[in-house]
Amino acid sequence: MVVVLLGPPGVGKGTQAVRLADEIGAAHVSTGDLLRAARREGTALGRKAAEYMDAGELVPDALILDLVREHLGTLDPATPILFDGFPRTIDQATGLDDVLAEAGRGVDHVVLFEAPDDVIVKRLSGRRSCLDCGAVYSIYFNPPAVDGVCDRCGGVLIQRIDDEPETVQRRLAVYRQETAPLVEFYEKRDGVLKRIRADRSVDEVYEALRTALGLSGA
Ligand code: AMP
Repeated sequence: MVVVLLGPPGVGKGTQAVRLADEIGAAHVSTGDLLRAARREGTALGRKAAEYMDAGELVPDALILDLVREHLGTLDPATPILFDGFPRTIDQATGLDDVLAEAGRGVDHVVLFEAPDDVIVKRLSGRRSCLDCGAVYSIYFNPPAVDGVCDRCGGVLIQRIDDEPETVQRRLAVYRQETAPLVEFYEKRDGVLKRIRADRSVDEVYEALRTALGLSGA
């Protein structure tokens, strides 16, 4: 099963992806997490990506597609995959189709997370992420048991530079311009795109996600 979680930054895709990946034994492929790891390791890709990321701009498609291709090569070909934050442009989506087709696979489900802008801005400003495992928390809606410490692995929680207010506005604008057209792109494929309301509790959104993927009541 290959699932794309689509939606604006801060809508809760990462939180849900971590949980669902745990439940169904899927690989959680977040290009944002892969890029942040490349930056921490100081690789050539990480250095190239840094400026785009800190400005809230998209990293060029060719770099992202190389990164995804390389990462997929490390996975067992039968592993279910949850893409989070990828694809973000039409060219990335067609590139993904090509990479998957080489492995005899395709995108099975696209789940669009929808929420009003004010909710998204609040979520981004309250977001804290684990440096070690990438788990995501919100100081407003889903706080860790101990301030600044990851419930899952005990790692340190940080606020991302690109979650600062001006960059948040830019990221939302980039989403509308570059990524929102993917809704129509996937809507053209029969029954692939499901919409869920993401301005609800983590548990409610999770149930909606399971239902969208046909996992509820199974
Ligand atoms: P995210 O953690 O998904 O919000 O990604 C953080 C930043 O990494 C984005 O604002 C982009 O600069 C970059 N990035 C992550 N995924 C992609 C992608 N699929 N295409 C282009 N840039 C990306």
